[in-house]
Amino acid sequence: MPVATGRDAMRYLTLNGKRWLLKEVPRLNADGECDSPMTRGKAIRIASRLRGERRLDVLIHEMMHACNWTIDEEHIAQTAADIARVLWRLGYRHPVLDGKDHGR
Ligand SMILES: [Zn+2]
Repeated sequence: MPVATGRDAMRYLTLNGKRWLLKEVPRLNADGECDSPMTRGKAIRIASRLRGERRLDVLIHEMMHACNWTIDEEHIAQTAADIARVLWRLGYRHPVLDGKDHGR
């Protein structure tokens, strides 16, 4: 299956029984954003410039917000960074974005 990249890349993520549209956004002020689980047409937005371990970190971070909207930011930031670091060391890579010419 081809891997979607670029501004048209869209897919849905089901987290704790609710569905977010994952959007890769070219111009996003933050690295990532997550709409509240109560939002209609909710989305998780990731800055499309992100690569490597940082991209993994932001994806995990925003999914953690989606899964439990009440966890405090500091705990999410620390946990997501730790999980991303472990996964990165175990060799998890995006097949296109973290190719030889990308990542960190
Ligand atoms: Zn956060």
